Amino acid sequence: MKSYGLSLATAAVLGDEKKKMAAETASSEGDEGSFNLTVEEKEALCGLDSSFFGFLSRREDGARTKTLLNKAIHCYESLIVKAEGKVDSDFFCQLGHFNLLLEDYSKALSSYQRYYSLQTDYWKNAAFLYGLGLVYFYYNAFHWATRAFQDVLYVDPSFCRAKEIHLRLGFMFKVNTDYESSLKHFQLALIDGNASTLSSVEIQFHIAQLYETQQKYHFAKEAYEQLLQIESLPSQVKATILQQLGWMHHNMDLVGDKVTKERYAIQYLQKSLEEDPNSGQSWYFLGRCYSSIGKVQDAFVSYRQSIDKSEASADTWCSIGVLYQQQNQPMDALQAYICAVQLDHGHAAAWMDLGILYESCNQPQDAIKCYLNATRSKSCSHTSALTSRIMFLQAQLCNLPQGNLQNKTKLLPSIEEAWSLPIPAELTSRQGAMNTAHQGFDKDESLHLALQNDDQPLFPTGSTRYLQADSTETLFPKFSDKMHKHTTSFISPHSGLHKINGEGQENSESSISVNPGLRPRPQIIPSMSVSIYSTSTEVLKACRNLGKNGLSNSHILLDLCPPPRPPSSPYPPLPKEKLNPPTPSIYLENKRDAFFPPLHQFCINPKNPVTVIRGLAGALKLDLGLFSTKTLVEANNEHMVEVRTQLLQPADENWDPSGTKKIWRYENKSSHTTIAKYAQYQACSFQESLREENERRMQAKDYSDIESTSSENSGRKRKGPFKTIKCGINIDLSDNKKWKLQLHELTKLPAFVRVVSAGNLLSHVGYTILGMNTVQLCMKVPGSRIPGHQENNNFCSVNINIGPGDCEWFVVPEDYWGVLNEFCEKNNLNFLMSSWWPNLEDLYEANVPVYRFIQRPGDLVWINAGTVHWVQAIGWCNNIAWNVGPLTAFQYKLAVERYEWNKLQSVKSVVPMVHLSWNMARNIKVSDPKLFEMIKYCLLKILKQCQTLREALVAAGKEVLWHGRINDEPAPYCSICEVEVFNLLFVTNESNSQKTYIVHCQNCARKASGNLENFVVLEQYKMEDLMQVYDQFTLAPSLSSAS
Ligand SMILES: [Zn+2]
Repeated sequence: MKSYGLSLATAAVLGDEKKKMAAETASSEGDEGSFNLTVEEKEALCGLDSSFFGFLSRREDGARTKTLLNKAIHCYESLIVKAEGKVDSDFFCQLGHFNLLLEDYSKALSSYQRYYSLQTDYWKNAAFLYGLGLVYFYYNAFHWATRAFQDVLYVDPSFCRAKEIHLRLGFMFKVNTDYESSLKHFQLALIDGNASTLSSVEIQFHIAQLYETQQKYHFAKEAYEQLLQIESLPSQVKATILQQLGWMHHNMDLVGDKVTKERYAIQYLQKSLEEDPNSGQSWYFLGRCYSSIGKVQDAFVSYRQSIDKSEASADTWCSIGVLYQQQNQPMDALQAYICAVQLDHGHAAAWMDLGILYESCNQPQDAIKCYLNATRSKSCSHTSALTSRIMFLQAQLCNLPQGNLQNKTKLLPSIEEAWSLPIPAELTSRQGAMNTAHQGFDKDESLHLALQNDDQPLFPTGSTRYLQADSTETLFPKFSDKMHKHTTSFISPHSGLHKINGEGQENSESSISVNPGLRPRPQIIPSMSVSIYSTSTEVLKACRNLGKNGLSNSHILLDLCPPPRPPSSPYPPLPKEKLNPPTPSIYLENKRDAFFPPLHQFCINPKNPVTVIRGLAGALKLDLGLFSTKTLVEANNEHMVEVRTQLLQPADENWDPSGTKKIWRYENKSSHTTIAKYAQYQACSFQESLREENERRMQAKDYSDIESTSSENSGRKRKGPFKTIKCGINIDLSDNKKWKLQLHELTKLPAFVRVVSAGNLLSHVGYTILGMNTVQLCMKVPGSRIPGHQENNNFCSVNINIGPGDCEWFVVPEDYWGVLNEFCEKNNLNFLMSSWWPNLEDLYEANVPVYRFIQRPGDLVWINAGTVHWVQAIGWCNNIAWNVGPLTAFQYKLAVERYEWNKLQSVKSVVPMVHLSWNMARNIKVSDPKLFEMIKYCLLKILKQCQTLREALVAAGKEVLWHGRINDEPAPYCSICEVEVFNLLFVTNESNSQKTYIVHCQNCARKASGNLENFVVLEQYKMEDLMQVYDQFTLAPSLSSAS
């Protein structure tokens, strides 16, 4: 199939000879004159693609263009009918664009689907991918929209709507609660000077909200206050920001004591109400503030106002109830709570408060009913406490003599009576209106509309939208109404403070039938052609002059690689009995065993995802005591430890904090301490457990009968609440002066597992990558967990348990990472960046094999390239670990694949593979033909890129300044998007004159300064030097043939 470049597609449809002929053939077969676009019209249509979406109506000739698009669609459609669908695939792509621009999304989608099914290298067409992304976005198919948008940026990082893409990615990640990715994309959108459908104020607002959602309140406050400085701020936006600030001050300890913070909160809310006096939400918040400082009258007035603005919700009524209860007006409180639960039957807080009210009035039977209702609600966060309270009350009732309760006069009507009780007019004046209003009420929608410049809604807000997917098509996901359910709550300004209703989000993707097997997994490093054997001069001659028409994109000249995709589940699926394979283990008896060459071969064999080398420390007589907590404290007690705060979970499971269901998300909050302090914690934890153990033993003696019955019931019991524990990680042992003895001890290891060795790729990076080519230490208490991950850039890793306790490992082979990635996506987690703990039942269901083993003190665990693993401590122990890069094709391929996947995912690659590849070519003799070809191919690609970019810069009159490189200097990365920048560095004039040399990649530099006038280009290598390295890098004779 023939492919066209993106801009060529239009020309092909409208001007190309071949297409003309196709059109003529088509029209000669049917009646004349259907394809009757004039030359001028064709010219006007030329270049109208998806990138104009959202911008057409801003153009002067917007209306005329729309008329033209309608005509063009008509012409194309009749042409396609006449040709019986046998037209060039580009017709469909174009038709997709035209329909998209006219906002006919279902027609746009079906046209794009046709194009996709006809065009094998559809992925080269950025405008197509972008259009497709926009359609998916419209239908809230965020998983697919994300993929399409990431593909655009991958194949064309300088795409003209990159800003719009970052904006929408930021929005989608926010919705999916992946806040870090979201923040990154919003920031990338913000630095881009190009136009987008959101103003920079709106982007800043989203960023501020993200901080708030992530509980970074000081950042959020700062960002909001910065926004308030903007003079032209629309009043609605201002009102919303002030409301946010007010509520945040009420809830968080941002300033001083309680009185001060409420004063601030009230001030902000009052200012917000000056901007928008009709916000029921602001009135409600104000009521809450007054209530909390005991200004009862003001609180009532505010709540009253809130209800009058017809925005009253169950929350407001619940708060009114609390206020009445505090004022000792139980009957009024009762009625307010009843209002709340009538508005929202699942309002857990109102049911709970009502229960407390009944209890305080000595009506335990009614209280139990209310508590039960509260526990049935999905939003209930006190389930375990309530359950035990219910049991307590029930037990009490049983002990009471019969009739005791009935005789008492009741203070309050029973819950059944209250439910049907006529509510005083004073309270219900707006009840009728509210009953209908609260369902459709969505405060965000008003915020959202207010944030827009156009009357055209930007992000999906409607609830009527659903997709009528072409039923004959199987390529694209089907959507159900389920999908748009959760869309309206996303932009919620209070999502960080109110509980987000998680319902619907979790399964948002489950209704889409994923079809991963349709296309083969793209090859990052394609199978080799002879081209890599041509000399550098030939290569460069071939691409010379091609880039002279301005600064063209480097990849036009290069063989583009399709965007990387995670592998689909290996086929055929493993039978269930093979899902718990035995772990490859080697038992060492002496030093000779450790240095026996086949051990190395066994470890790096791709068939062994993991190898446990048992008894290594003993065989080598390693002094592990050097890494014991006692020695560490003596050596460097003030040394820094990163602490991860975790919940102590049962065995191999991971439950949500309330213990109701198993989840993948793993809470793992980070902070810092010192070795001395962590050591103290470790010791205390040990003592405490000894004490508990003793107590348990004593109790077991006394109540052995009770023990056995309670353990029988434990299966049905809720898990949790969980104890909090701390895990000490990333303790840096790189400093040779501080850790001399420790590091020296590790040189006793066989070369292939050593931190530094000639055969270790990471020893050829030329500088320190902490924790990768240096040693890191972990200090743990039982239950400490290292969540699921692959190592940086899929490098191998070495881990030695120091003891005294054991560790338990869970390991999944590399080719299943796509399956785990999918599980993470389903659970709204980022495979690369989030903390997750796989649910073993899910893995079993999905036929994923899991290796599981215990690592005893002195055992070395070798994690092979790309192996997914997660680890928990069984006892108290320390571990030391680092990465190793064996010189194999398997390792290199996986490292490069991850490098590209990271790029697609906007995640930094810690190992600079381009820089490393050149160093390998300089320093290493490679005798494996497969590995050699891969390295040589990468060098070729980079060489061409450098040459093309350099020539284009010079042709555009941009001077390239010689900068050179200092030995051991870290590889440069773009300070904005974090991609590795090789050879040609873009540095702002300012940074250059200050000699800070803050590096940008070409794309980020162009976003900040279109013609690069604010930038200088610094060159680190001479072309001749790179050419020489390339030419001198040849396949070395293999060791066996040499001997
Ligand atoms: Zn960049």
